[in-house]
Amino acid sequence: MNLLIVGPPGAGKGTHAKVLEREHGFVHISTGDLLRSRALVGDPIGQEIRKTMAAGGLVRDELVNHALFERLAQADCRKRGVVLDGYPRNEAQAIQLDSFLARRGQAIDAVIELKVDEQTMVERITGRCACGDCKACYHDKFKPPETPNRCDDCGGHLVRRVDDNEATVRQRYKAYSEQTRPVLAHYDARGVHAAVDSSKPEAQVRAAILAAIGLDHSPPPVRRPLTPRPPRA
Ligand code: ADP
Ligand code: AMP
Repeated sequence: MNLLIVGPPGAGKGTHAKVLEREHGFVHISTGDLLRSRALVGDPIGQEIRKTMAAGGLVRDELVNHALFERLAQADCRKRGVVLDGYPRNEAQAIQLDSFLARRGQAIDAVIELKVDEQTMVERITGRCACGDCKACYHDKFKPPETPNRCDDCGGHLVRRVDDNEATVRQRYKAYSEQTRPVLAHYDARGVHAAVDSSKPEAQVRAAILAAIGLDHSPPPVRRPLTPRPPRA
């Protein structure tokens, strides 16, 4: 099963994709993480990516697609399935993803849209920090670590992203509203899109996501007994 988690910055995409990876065996792929790694290379492409991300714009499709499709071609993505976080972000990316998967006899099975308003988004992003080692996510107010600046899971140092400031996040929200949200119509037409209110506490959002993709361990539907076939003449 291949999933997309779509939503504005701070909606909780990374938080819930990590749970799907840890507890349900999906491979979590964040195009933001792939691009941040690529940006560490100090060549002209790395510099272009860093500049675009710092300004809150969308990185060129060609660069994002190269990084993503290389990752998707790896063997682990063939097992349980993947959860893509932050991709597709425009119509062209959605079309290219479809073609890539179709060539492998695969498709997107469910699209979870996480909905939050702009004010909630700003509050979540400006208080966000994450472990520099294991990437576990924290929040100054909603999910503080037990020891300041230390990861509860692995003891690593917590870091903040340079683009997690109010001015840039409003720019990222604009890019989301103008270019990414319209892509949901692409999946509506196929009946695979489910919207979840992500302004609720994390546990409630998680339960709604699991229910939307049928992993909520609710009792299986009652099966009707098979009607016996008439004896052959
Ligand atoms: P995204 O990947 O969509 O940008 P994150 O998963 O990184 O968002 O979450 C952004 C911030 O909001 C993080 O600091 C996270 O701990 C916090 N957060 C996520 N979900 C919730 C929630 N339901 N309630 C409160 N805070 C949340
Ligand atoms: P994220 O980690 O998803 O918040 O993404 C951080 C930044 O990476 C975005 O603001 C964009 O600049 C860039 N980015 C991530 N995914 C994509 C994508 N699919 N297309 C274009 N740019 C992307």
